[in-house]
Amino acid sequence: MEKFDINIITRENVKSLKPYSSARDEFEDFDTADMVFLDANENPFENGVNRYPDPQQNSVKQVLAKQKNVKSNQILLGNGSDEVLDLLFRAFCEPKTDNVITLPPTYGMYGVLANINDVENKEVLLSEDFQPKVDQILEAVDVNTKIIFLCSPNNPTGNSFLDESVVALLQNFKGLVVIDEAYIDFSKKESWINELDEYPNLVITQTLSKAYGLAGIRLGICYASAGVIAVLNKIKPPYNVNELTQQRAGLRLKETDEINTEIAVIIEQRESLLKVLLDIKFVKKIYPTEANFILVKVDNANKRYDDLIAKGIVIRNRTTQPLCDNCLRLTIGTEVENKKLIEALKLLN
Ligand SMILES: *Cc1c(COP(=O)(O)O)cnc(C)c1O
Repeated sequence: MEKFDINIITRENVKSLKPYSSARDEFEDFDTADMVFLDANENPFENGVNRYPDPQQNSVKQVLAKQKNVKSNQILLGNGSDEVLDLLFRAFCEPKTDNVITLPPTYGMYGVLANINDVENKEVLLSEDFQPKVDQILEAVDVNTKIIFLCSPNNPTGNSFLDESVVALLQNFKGLVVIDEAYIDFSKKESWINELDEYPNLVITQTLSKAYGLAGIRLGICYASAGVIAVLNKIKPPYNVNELTQQRAGLRLKETDEINTEIAVIIEQRESLLKVLLDIKFVKKIYPTEANFILVKVDNANKRYDDLIAKGIVIRNRTTQPLCDNCLRLTIGTEVENKKLIEALKLLN
């Protein structure tokens, strides 16, 4: 197996790009209080957001770099992880030529983004216990395979992938292995961030949308080698993370005690809901979970979904997903919300 080489996997047109240089890129020290800024055609009257935001989001990155023990140049921020994932396609996958591998049942955006970018999506189903089939994945790899998407803990199944499977893919695939860790904060497992220096082809995405409680501000994070991040920086829109998002993220990232308490409460609620589900007769199977949701197999997913809607409770019906026949995904809410769910489940029992 050849070694990972960023020059081989980057699209030709992207390689020859220089990053677009915005007004604020050209003068980087724009915090400097006594400078007069007449470079970006902004309205000069201060209202808190009349200036363009920092295109490199340096202050947010500094906090993340410290918390995650990486360098700032190993971080790229996006308008949600969805933007980060799209940038990965656009940087590394040549439309109509290259392909990616995804492992259904999993997060739908990988396939959606593959379609939008006209990149083939080779699907290798997870095993019955929702683990990657490493041999089949490696067999599906061809010279045009650029990215393998792993979601761990996986949505909608809730489990995380075995370390040895992830390592086997990192070691034997010479394209990028993207590990989507949207739910890592709910898991006992460590983030793969700690292995970044070990594997140059490792890319990790995280988000402030789940455990951090900031889905509304749209902030996604990509951790990778400085080389991969430099390529992504070439193609990102200059002001892709707005000022309000940067400010709010900066404040929230300092609230570590509050975040950890919320995560602990959600996990405690998850564990008690798991126990209740054992006594619901129409629940046929409860899948192990390391996320803030539970996947259950029921007698009739469409019927149970409608039953719950009628009681004012909206869950996610995953029955059309491969290996998810009659499966429903339940997000863990507050104690009050979960009580409502439990009451409804008991009435239907
Ligand atoms: C929710 C979720 C995300 C988050 O996406 P954002 O665009 O950051 O809100 C990413 N990956 C998975 C698997 C998810 O379930």
